[in-house]
Amino acid sequence: MDLLNTLVDKGLRRELPTREEALAVLATSDDDLLEVVAAAGKVRRHWFGRRVKLNYLVNLKSGLCPEDCSYCSQRLGSKADILKYTWLKPEEASRAAAAGLAGGAKRVCLVASGRGPTDRDVDRVSETIKAIKDEHADVEVCACLGLLSDGQAERLRAAGADAYNHNLNTSEATYGDITTTHTYADRVDTVHKAHAAGLSACSGLIAGMGESDEDLVDVVFALRALDPDSVPVNFLIPFEGTPLAKEWNLTPQRCLRILAMVRFVCPDVEVRIAGGREVHLRTMQPLALHLANSIFLGDYLTSEGQAGKADLEMIADAGFEVEGADQVTLPEHRAAGGCRETASGGCHEGGVCGTGTGAASAPAASSATPAPSAHDPRPDLVAVRRRGAGTDLAPNA
Ligand code: SF4
Repeated sequence: MDLLNTLVDKGLRRELPTREEALAVLATSDDDLLEVVAAAGKVRRHWFGRRVKLNYLVNLKSGLCPEDCSYCSQRLGSKADILKYTWLKPEEASRAAAAGLAGGAKRVCLVASGRGPTDRDVDRVSETIKAIKDEHADVEVCACLGLLSDGQAERLRAAGADAYNHNLNTSEATYGDITTTHTYADRVDTVHKAHAAGLSACSGLIAGMGESDEDLVDVVFALRALDPDSVPVNFLIPFEGTPLAKEWNLTPQRCLRILAMVRFVCPDVEVRIAGGREVHLRTMQPLALHLANSIFLGDYLTSEGQAGKADLEMIADAGFEVEGADQVTLPEHRAAGGCRETASGGCHEGGVCGTGTGAASAPAASSATPAPSAHDPRPDLVAVRRRGAGTDLAPNA
């Protein structure tokens, strides 16, 4: 396919595709899916080989958020029956992080619900970073605390944070439909603050919230302009008790096309499959490793992931390898801080909240138990996290 040859050539040169080319990837048919994966896989392997970086989420403070992000189980007015707790103590967070690191993670993502941190919160997180780094000198720590005020990114950097996550989530045009308590521009501003403080910026999106292909391309192009080092791609988990609980509109095939499009637009960036991986990719998860070079190990902030052991087995069975602490994630030109473009926003949910519509399509076998369709809603796959941080039960790692 000419389109795919063009996109591979551009990806190997880090050249931005046109919007039309990105839209065309999303419009490819299921018949062409393996060709799309193979083409984007060439770009992935060129920049990241067969390595898969593992990241581990520690939810420092869960639920009770005053913001109204529609996709989020921790939002104002959420009826989702999630864990709710206030700040973990540094030693509690460090214990949770240690479980993820023992499971093979090289980055720990410290996440807290809320609009943004107070200066006292930055102190707490700084103590937590120190507690983790005292035990694990090589670990990468990413903080994800919401909107930052002036000077807070610098303080986190000085405390040892390596990265800061704040997602754009969706296009600027639809942002107001998803959240009313802060703006897209607020989110962009926080990513800029992280960059300016010398933190590695992590910013991504949530697919499956009812957005159009144009919206998806808009947010991915905006991310390319913002130039983060890592782009988490969340697939909405339609949590019961949130406004988007009925938005089941993703299929595994659609998720693969979205990941391929992100890879073509952000070829040399750490593309991470984030929340919703198990719920929406399901048995197609191994194919997605040909597109993304990074995943979360184990559980998410408020929902359960598959067992950490299953993640490791999947990576090995698919012919990939877990990236070691001694391996550099990013290509040399990015790791050295060069080749920056300029910027332009998201959520710090790290990828937990989901969706669900679901139009049936594949013909069912004529038996008493109909064969499932890729379009069927799968609320049975959404499990609220009940273990790990904030509980007395061992974490999943
Ligand atoms: S995404 Fe973050 S800011 Fe928005 S409701 Fe959830 S925890 Fe609050």
